[in-house]
Amino acid sequence: MKLMGKSLCPGVALGPIHVLPETEKRGKPTPAGTPEQELERLEWGRQRALDRVRGQQSAALEKLGEGEADIFRLHALMLEDRDLLETVRCAVRAGACAEDSVREAGETFAAAFRALNDPYLQGRAADVEEVSRLWREALSGAAERLELDAPAILCAGEFSPGELIALEREKVLGLVAQRMAPDSHAAILARAMALPTVAGLVPQTHWEGTFAALDGETGALYLDPEGETLDGLTERARARQEAAESLGCFRTGSAVTRDGRSVSVCANIAAPEEAALAWKEGAQGVGLFRTEFLCLDKKQCPGEEEQTALYRRALEAMEGRRVVIRTLDIGGDKRPPWLEAGKGENPALGLRGIRLSLKKTELFRIQLRAILRAAPYGTAAVMFPMVSSVEEVRAARALLEQCREELEMQDIPTGEVEVGVMIETPAAALIAEDLAREADFFSIGTNDLTQYTLAMDRQDPDLEGMYHPCHPAVLELIRRAVEGGHRHGRRVALCGQLGAERSMTETLLRMGVDELSVPVGEVLGLKAHVSTLDLSN
Ligand code: PEP
Ligand code: MG
Repeated sequence: MKLMGKSLCPGVALGPIHVLPETEKRGKPTPAGTPEQELERLEWGRQRALDRVRGQQSAALEKLGEGEADIFRLHALMLEDRDLLETVRCAVRAGACAEDSVREAGETFAAAFRALNDPYLQGRAADVEEVSRLWREALSGAAERLELDAPAILCAGEFSPGELIALEREKVLGLVAQRMAPDSHAAILARAMALPTVAGLVPQTHWEGTFAALDGETGALYLDPEGETLDGLTERARARQEAAESLGCFRTGSAVTRDGRSVSVCANIAAPEEAALAWKEGAQGVGLFRTEFLCLDKKQCPGEEEQTALYRRALEAMEGRRVVIRTLDIGGDKRPPWLEAGKGENPALGLRGIRLSLKKTELFRIQLRAILRAAPYGTAAVMFPMVSSVEEVRAARALLEQCREELEMQDIPTGEVEVGVMIETPAAALIAEDLAREADFFSIGTNDLTQYTLAMDRQDPDLEGMYHPCHPAVLELIRRAVEGGHRHGRRVALCGQLGAERSMTETLLRMGVDELSVPVGEVLGLKAHVSTLDLSN
């Protein structure tokens, strides 16, 4: 049987299916035993949650690094916090069931953190919520859902980023999720872990143990495949494996064409944990850190301390290789629940990117201060999205300098940051030469540049086959951007999806693009591809 979902990460997986039980649903009534029984269950659940957090901590330490492991260390400390434990136990003694007591205490503590003045402590609210979730999952048995005996294709309603980080990579062949948005952190981690992933299929319990083939390229899931289908997919899986092994030699150094031109291949990331993966995959830097993903699913924007810590983690993970931190590109399709602005009739043409930042300067200043504070821990650059005028760049740079002066007055150390401008509106491409006087480098965002040049919504599935980043008008604007940047000696990178389009690599390099920044999973393949090109004639 063949089922069609939506492809989120390519690759082929062959093996048995394991259907995960649903995570605990909020509001599900839980029968309470006697207070003594519930207290006993509560402690049993807490120990299991602690074991799980410690497991996550070791996994993060091994796969990602100290900074990432610290998150889980904090969660373990919270699970041992006396005040939290006493509040939960009190509720149980008063007759509530273990799950409800944990949930209520979690909500109370999270609200208390949020009410504090210190942005760092405000940010801890999300950690208490995570700890409360883990504890409740342990109590309901849902925590065991990821303990696997043998490699399997995992199917679930949804996966959380914490779960994916904790997975034993060797035991997971691929993922099938009912709900996973292409830009969600879970999808980003799945891609970073190179897990063939398909979304939009509702897992059925009777699939458990069924042999299946998952085609991450087309979005197909085959149950009990046989004959030509099975042979074809097995062959593709083998060829991919061989190709991946042969790429190992590209992990170090830059990509060099056959005629000796060195091309910088960097990674696009959306979370600090991806930086460690980018480094391992041989990225020469992070060409685009989409910081808005750090706050889209939050109840409020992370404060200065929290943002500083997040940027620092990414910078440290890259060990001195440059990390381009793009300021919040909120608006358009990326609207966080905590922001009222940007809800006009036509949000893609409304208050978004740098326009929003320059209007909401209190938000912008927090981010600029955090970037400056994180900068001493690596090589940082700041980049402004959706620029359409020289004045915007001047205003943003002026605020950056003001933030630096304030930090210096407060004796808070800062680091040097280069200032980049994204070329993703036709206006920016057409005035590239003027913008080049104001910026240290450019990065061409072909996703939006295509959308605004062709007047085609990049999200609209009905435009499939019409939304062409290789349209001659888009290529002409890229050419102008490169020319304008180079005229003032600025490096010109390209960080839109077109950079990962191998059929276009040669054209882009011949146009003079200096750097390509692509999803982490594309870095090695692109470096290998660059090395096959000869641009000498
Ligand atoms: C782009 O527009 O090409 C780009 C890289 O930015 P985003 O996809 O985040 O809008
Ligand atoms: Mg863009």
